[in-house]
Amino acid sequence: MLIDLNENPTCTECGLCREVCPVFQIQQREEYSPRGRAMLDSAGIQTLVFYQCTLCRTCRIVCPVGHDPSGETLRSGLIAVGEETPANQVMIANIRQYGNPFGPLAEGEIPKTLTCC
Ligand code: SF4
Ligand code: SF4
Repeated sequence: MLIDLNENPTCTECGLCREVCPVFQIQQREEYSPRGRAMLDSAGIQTLVFYQCTLCRTCRIVCPVGHDPSGETLRSGLIAVGEETPANQVMIANIRQYGNPFGPLAEGEIPKTLTCC
């Protein structure tokens, strides 16, 4: 099957992606699985759970229809309605102000914290 990478085919809810998702392997709850994300998204539900994704895209590699339930698109939908984690807000503000996600750094300084979503 040829997949148009500009489109996101509809999830068939087969569940193959759950077996390879590192977040689901830790959380063991459907809403944290790629399939759960796809189902929430198709129901029009936007939740901060969408940030619980490493963006590894392993789910898309194994998906038989090429659906991409990873976080980027879902997160942009959240941001569009003003739903962000505090850590994500800090990271974006740092990037805008300092050009990096860590905040102010002296030349050669190693960051002590990693701000992430
Ligand atoms: S995203 Fe793909 S692999 Fe996962 S449940 Fe949907 S169709 Fe199956
Ligand atoms: S991209 Fe996200 S949802 Fe997909 S396998 Fe990786 S962590 Fe799971």
